[in-house]
Amino acid sequence: MVSCSPNHSSNSLKRVITHSSHYTTLISLALGFSLILIPCELSARGPQLKRYEFSLPRMGTIFRIELYSPDDATAAKAAEAAFARAEELEQIMSDYREDSELMRLAREGASAPFPASDDLYNVLAKSIRISELSRGAFDVSVGPLVELWRKARRTGRLPNASELARAKVLVDYRNIELDAARHTVFLKRAGMKLDLGAIGKGYAADQMLALLQSRGLRQAMVVAGGEVALGAAPSDQAGWRVAIDTPDTGTGKRPCVLMLHDSAVSTSGNSRQFVEVNGKRYSHIIDPSTGLGLEGAASTTVIARDSTTADALATALSIMPVGDGMRLADSLAYVAVYWVRQAGNGWKGYASRGFPTSCLGAK
Ligand code: AMP
Ligand code: MG
Repeated sequence: MVSCSPNHSSNSLKRVITHSSHYTTLISLALGFSLILIPCELSARGPQLKRYEFSLPRMGTIFRIELYSPDDATAAKAAEAAFARAEELEQIMSDYREDSELMRLAREGASAPFPASDDLYNVLAKSIRISELSRGAFDVSVGPLVELWRKARRTGRLPNASELARAKVLVDYRNIELDAARHTVFLKRAGMKLDLGAIGKGYAADQMLALLQSRGLRQAMVVAGGEVALGAAPSDQAGWRVAIDTPDTGTGKRPCVLMLHDSAVSTSGNSRQFVEVNGKRYSHIIDPSTGLGLEGAASTTVIARDSTTADALATALSIMPVGDGMRLADSLAYVAVYWVRQAGNGWKGYASRGFPTSCLGAK
């Protein structure tokens, strides 16, 4: 289903709402969408450009493209190529497909240096950089702990101390050795498992947007699940309107709305994917220092130049204390962050330098 009209779903895991002055769309994560071409409207100042929307399931969620194109064929071919690129990346990065490159790396990469594709190498290099910046809060080798979290979701039982200890010794990004000259990845401990769940969709969004733009479609937006990559603004707009669904919306506060172009937005949250044990909720975002999912509802929104950075940083900054995260955010060029955390019975928002003030405390 592809629509130019509002499309609301209450069971979405992570929601991003995009608007223009002409329409509003709530992106849901329900599966079963198909690739359908719909020219939605004429652009006000560029009558030769029409707006198109496409969506398809990819990477266990819905990927959506919005773009402005001079004609149907250009739009459809570009969108098809972008979704094909996402499929190619899924085959590289998936930890659900036994034959993905990532899973082959887990099987072979501890015996000898593993020759990696450009995509896998690049996304791992970026992951390690974010691990260094976040001092291990973000750790792409978190796979064994993610397996325990998934088991807890199936059994309703948390891992015991020895299961946790066995998994934790395998989680340390410093045991991933990248060789830039040979383009290889070596895992220093047998049993290590990498997980690109916190960065892969952002990387895919960047790659899809770059592909659309290389075909001359510069006014484009890719939404990969909750990851938003934005190209040039639509001709009649100052930017793309992106509304962030924070846990305090619905408490009388309107969603935080951003107006952006040529950048990316990611929100990581604890409240939509969690396992509940003995009345406590443990999020799918795992603190490598405890080995357990984060407790309590919260959200962290990152604006960055590219979606790979925004995705990885949003996860990293969900785990780090707000003060440490604020220092990190303020030290990085073109990064702005908005945290929503529980404070007593209410919520508190914190913004790093440069976060658009339109969002802060919006009622
Ligand atoms: P996101 O929704 O982008 O915050 O990513 C959450 C996903 O990232 C989880 O479902 C795991 O697959 C993975 N993940 C969980 N904890 C971490 C962590 N500490 N570092 C890197 N990836 C993680
Ligand atoms: Mg992420």
